[in-house]
Amino acid sequence: MVKAPEKTVQKKKFATETKQVLELFAKWLYQNKEIFLRELISNASDANDKLKMLALKDEALFDGDSDLKVWVMYNKAAKTLTVKDNGIGMTLDEVVENLGTIARSGTKQFIDQLSKAQSSDANGQLIGQFGVGFYSAFVVSDRVEVRTLRAGQTNDQGVFWQSNGVDDYEVSPCELTHRGTEIVMHLKDDAEEFLDEFRLRKIITTYSDHIAYPIVMFVEKPVADDDDQSSDKTDEKEEKKAPRKEIQEEVVNQANAIWTVPKKEVKDDEYEAFYKHVSHDFNQPLAWTHNKVEGGKLEYTSLLYIPSEAPFDLWNREYKHGLKLYVQRVFILDDAKNLLPTYLRFVKGVVDSNDLPLNVSREVLQNSSTVDMIRSGCVKRILDLLGYLAENEPDKYQKFWSAFGAVLKEGPAEDFTNKDKIAELLRFTSTRSDDEKQTLSLAQYVERMTEGQDKIYYVIADSYRAAKNSPHLELFENKGIEVLLLSDRVDEWLVSRLTEYKGKSLVSIARGEVDEALSMDEKEKASIKASEEAFSDVVKQAQEVLKDRVKSVRTSKRLTSSASCIVADEDEMSVNLRRMLIESGQSVPDMKPILELNAKHPLLLRLKSEMQDDKFADLAHVLLDQAILAEGGQLDDPNAFVKRMNDLVS
Ligand code: ADP
Repeated sequence: MVKAPEKTVQKKKFATETKQVLELFAKWLYQNKEIFLRELISNASDANDKLKMLALKDEALFDGDSDLKVWVMYNKAAKTLTVKDNGIGMTLDEVVENLGTIARSGTKQFIDQLSKAQSSDANGQLIGQFGVGFYSAFVVSDRVEVRTLRAGQTNDQGVFWQSNGVDDYEVSPCELTHRGTEIVMHLKDDAEEFLDEFRLRKIITTYSDHIAYPIVMFVEKPVADDDDQSSDKTDEKEEKKAPRKEIQEEVVNQANAIWTVPKKEVKDDEYEAFYKHVSHDFNQPLAWTHNKVEGGKLEYTSLLYIPSEAPFDLWNREYKHGLKLYVQRVFILDDAKNLLPTYLRFVKGVVDSNDLPLNVSREVLQNSSTVDMIRSGCVKRILDLLGYLAENEPDKYQKFWSAFGAVLKEGPAEDFTNKDKIAELLRFTSTRSDDEKQTLSLAQYVERMTEGQDKIYYVIADSYRAAKNSPHLELFENKGIEVLLLSDRVDEWLVSRLTEYKGKSLVSIARGEVDEALSMDEKEKASIKASEEAFSDVVKQAQEVLKDRVKSVRTSKRLTSSASCIVADEDEMSVNLRRMLIESGQSVPDMKPILELNAKHPLLLRLKSEMQDDKFADLAHVLLDQAILAEGGQLDDPNAFVKRMNDLVS
C-alpha cells in the first residue's frame, strides 16, 4: 500500500520588495479599503478568462464545469470574507511565484521612488500607477488563506497558502475537490463593515458591474407563504408570522462584458470602473473611445482608454502593453503588442474581434492582415481622440502631454502613415516661453513666424537650461525669431524623422552655416565680411593648433555675445545625438565639430594680439572647451582645461 505523502508545510519569507510594498499599501490604502474587493474580483475574472482561453485547445480542462463564476461570501460568526472562482487555479510553484514575490520589473525603482516621495498625495499617485492586486487583501485582513487547484490537476495537487502579510507565509499541498481559487480573508476588527450584504453589493456594482462573469452572493431572501414546504417548518420554529427567509444564490452584477453593451447605455462611472479592472490602475482614466465596427469586411469592437498618469514602468524594456485581445467574447491574450504601435503603448483597453480564429496565437497575430486592419483602426481612434482633446479640452490634453508626450514623440519615426496627424499633436517649449512646459503646437509656431521666415528652427540640448542658454540662439534672439527648445531624449529621434511640417522644414540652428534667409542687410553682410578678413590669419592659426580636435575654424555669423560655439556640418549627425549614442554604448564614426569664433568678442582681439605668444594655443583650446561645455558636453581632459584657464587668469 502506498503511504500518503506527509503533509509538508513550508514556511517562506516574503521577498524583501514584497514586504516593503505590503507595508506601503497597508498605510496608504487605509482610506480606500474597499478597493481590495475590486482587485480580488478582477483577479478571479482574469483567472476565469485564462481557463476559458486554454480550454479552447483542451476542453477537458473544464472537467464538466464550464459555467464560470465568481463568488463573494461572508460569514459573520467567523468574521471571514471569501472570494472564490472556478478559473484556472495555480500550481504550488505558481503560488510561490505569484503570491510570494511581486514579480514585476522595476519594483525596486518603484519602491525607491516611493520612499523619496514626500507627500502622501504623491505616494497615492505612485501606488496607483503600480496597481495593488492581491496584496490589498491584507489591508482588511489579519490573515489570508488561499486554497487553489490548477485546472487539469488531480485533487491531491491542491495548494494551501496562508499569511498574516507581515514577514512570511506558509504553503503546503492539500486535497481539494474543485478547480479554481478561494481566498478567505480573516477580517481585522476595523474591517467588519464588509460583513454586510448591502455594503458588499454596493462595492460590487460600483466597481465590478461589467465584469464578464456573474458575481454570485449568498443572500437571505424571504420565501412566499403559500409555499407548501414552508408551512411545515415555520410551525415548529417560528411563533410570529415573520416571513420565512432562505439563503439563495443571487447574481449581483450585470455580468455582461461592458464593451458589448451599446455606447448609449453605458454610464461614465461604469466606463471608469471597467478601466480600473482592465488596467490595474488606481487613477481615473483621462478619456476613452468605444467603437463597434461592423457591416464591412471587418467586425470588431474596441474600448480604448488613455490613462491620466504614466505608469511607473512605462520606460522599462519589458513594459507590458495594456490591450487585451478577445475573440468572440473569449479572452485570448493580454499585452497584445500587435494591436497598437509602440508609441501608443500607454493605451489600455480591450479589442474583441469576430474575424480572428479562436485559436489565434501571438505568431499568427504578427502576420495577420485582419490584425493590421484592426490596428490601423485603433490608431485612428486614439489619434482622433487626442486631436479632439487638444482642440476641445486643452487642460486635459496638457495633462496627457505631460504624462505621455515623450512617448507620442516616437510616433513620426514609427508610423509614417500618420506622421502629419501626429505632428499636429506635438507640443514644445520655445524661446518665447518662460518655462519648460511644453504647450506650443507647430501650427501656432507657424502662425506667428516672422515675415520672410520660411523654416521652423530648433535647438537641441541635454537639458532645458542648456537649450535655453545655447549660444546658437543669440542671432535668432536679436532678429526676434522664435526657436523651439528641445531637450527630451527622444527629440533627436523625432527631428531625424519629422523633417518638415506643412511644407516648412525643421532646421537645427546648430548645424551648418547660418541660414541666408535670416535676411542680413547689406550693412551686416559688409561687417561680417570685414571681420572675416580681419581675423583670417587668427582663424588659420587656431585651426592649425586645434587640428586634432576640430574639423575647421571659422568666424561666426550667429554669435553676438558668446565668444565661441561648436556646430555640426550640414550633412553630419548633431553633436548632441553623437553624445547620446556614445553614452548608450554605441559606436559612432569619428566626427569633429566646427569651431566658430565671435569676431566681436574681446577674447578674439586678445587671441589676435597673442599670435606670436605661447599663450595663443592655450587660449584657442580654452575657446573650444568653453564651446563644448556650453553645449552641455563633456571635456576629454578637464584637467588640461582648468590648468589653461588658471594660467590665463593669473
Ligand atoms: P496582478 O494581478 O497585477 O498580476 P496580483 O498581485 O493581483 O498582481 O496577482 C499576482 C498573480 O497571482 C496574478 O498575475 C496571477 O497569476 C495570480 N493570481 C492572483 N489571483 C489569482 C486567482 N484568483 N486565480 C489564479 N491566479 C491568480
